[in-house]
Amino acid sequence: MPLIRLAQLFAAAGHTLYGVGGMVRNPLLGLPVTDNDVTSSMTPGEVMAMCRDKGIKYLDIGAAFGMVELHYMGGVFQHTTFRRDTYPTGGGHRPQAVSYSGDINEDAFRRDFTVNAIYKNILTGRITDPTGGMQDLKNRLLRATSKDPAVIMGDDALRIMRMARFASELGFEAERGTLEAARACAAGLADISPERIREELDRILLSDAKYGIPGGPYRGLELLDKLEALDVILPELAKGRGVAQKPQYHKYDVLHHCFHAVDCIEPSLTLRLAALLHDVGKPAALEATGCMYTHDRLGADMAQGILQRLKYPGAVIRDVTALIRNHMFDLRTEAKENTIRLWLQEMGIERSRQLIALRRADVHGSGRIEGPVESADRWERILESMIAAGAPFEERQLAVTGADIAGYLGIPPSPRIGYIKAGLLRHCAKRPEDNNKTALLRLSRDLVNNS
Ligand code: ATP
Ligand code: MG
Repeated sequence: MPLIRLAQLFAAAGHTLYGVGGMVRNPLLGLPVTDNDVTSSMTPGEVMAMCRDKGIKYLDIGAAFGMVELHYMGGVFQHTTFRRDTYPTGGGHRPQAVSYSGDINEDAFRRDFTVNAIYKNILTGRITDPTGGMQDLKNRLLRATSKDPAVIMGDDALRIMRMARFASELGFEAERGTLEAARACAAGLADISPERIREELDRILLSDAKYGIPGGPYRGLELLDKLEALDVILPELAKGRGVAQKPQYHKYDVLHHCFHAVDCIEPSLTLRLAALLHDVGKPAALEATGCMYTHDRLGADMAQGILQRLKYPGAVIRDVTALIRNHMFDLRTEAKENTIRLWLQEMGIERSRQLIALRRADVHGSGRIEGPVESADRWERILESMIAAGAPFEERQLAVTGADIAGYLGIPPSPRIGYIKAGLLRHCAKRPEDNNKTALLRLSRDLVNNS
C-alpha cells in the first residue's frame, strides 16, 4: 500500500515508478523481498523537493549517484534515478561520472546482472525487461547485462563479489561468458575497499540462512576460487589449493576442506569465519617446518592479520583467532577427563560450545566421516555435566571472595590470594560439588601452605 501511494505521487509529478533488483526478482522466484529498490526518471533533486513538499522523510544516501532513501508510511524505499555511469580505469566501485537519463533501457545496461535489471511498473504491474532477465531467471543464470561482459566486470570489480554472493544466496550458475570476464577482471578487486569486500564475503558465508537454500557458502566460495578472486582477497587461504592431506583422514585438499567445513557449521559469522580460516596456517607451517603441527598457532596469527585487513570488528577477530588457536586440542580423543574439564573451564562456556561445533565441522568437512564425532561428543557431555553441577567458569562464580579467604587465613590482601583463588577455580572444574564456602575455605588453607 505505501508503495502504490508513493507511485501515485510520482505519477502526479509526471514520472513512472518501477521496482527493480531483488524486489522484482525475488517474488518471481517465490522468495521474500529484503529491501525495496525503486527507480524512475525523477532526478534526486526533484525527489527531495517532492519529499519536502509532501512532508515525506528522506535521507540523501548518495544523491551524487542518484540515490535517495524515502521513509514513507512505515516503508523504506531506495530510489535511484535512471542513469548512465562512466568508470575510471581500474576496478574501483565508484563511477567517475553519472548522468541521469529518461531512458529505462539505458538504466538497465548500467546494472550488473540481467536478473537484477527486470523492472516492474508499480501501478500497472507490467514488466519491462530490456536485457533478457526473465529468460535467465528461468534458467537460473547470472549473466552480465551488457553484450560485452568484460565492460561490466572491468568497470566495477565489486560485481565479481556480487556474482559469487548471488550464486550462493540464490543457488544460480554463472553464465560462461560472464564467468570468464569476471575471471579476467579479478585483479580489479584490489581497488575495492576492504569494507565492501567484507560485506559481500559475510553474505556469502551466511548465504544459506538468507533464503534457506542449502550449500550456498560452498557454492560461493568455490566460485570465488574459480574466478581467481580468492587469490586477491584471501591469498593466504588460496595457498591451500592443491595442498594434499593424509588420504585416510581427508578427501579434499586444504582449501576445499575449509570450504566444506564452512558448510558443516551453523550460520554464525564467527563460526563460519573460524571454519573458513581454521587451517589457513597449514601451507605456511608445511613450508616452514616440513609438517603441519604448528598450523593452529601460526594460523591464528595469520587469521588475525587477514581479519584486520578486512576491517572486522575487534570482538570478531578475538573470537575467531581464539577458536583457530585451540582447534587442535585433544585431536586423538586421548585427553584425560580432568584435562578436558580444565580446558573447558579456561575456554568458558560459549567458546567451548563453539569449539565443539568447530571440531564437528572439521571432522565432517574432511569428507571421510559422517555422524557422531567422539571427541566433540565427549567434550559436550563433560561441559553439560559441569554446568549442571554448578561448576564455576570464572573466579567471580566461586562461593568465596578474596576478602573471605584473607579473613579466614588471617593474611592481608596480596598476590597470594589471587594464586589461591586460581587454585580453587581449577579445583572446582574437577570437583564442582566443592564450590561452597566451607569446602573452599578449607581448601584455601592447603593452597596457602603450598604457595
Ligand atoms: P537483495 O535482494 O539481496 O537486496 P538486490 O538485487 O536488490 O539484492 P542490491 O544490492 O539491493 O541488490 O542492489 C539493487 C540493484 O541495484 C541490483 O539489483 C542491481 O540492479 C543494482 N546494483 C547494485 N549494486 C550494483 C553494482 N555494483 N553494479 C551494478 N548494479 C548494481
Ligand atoms: Mg535490494
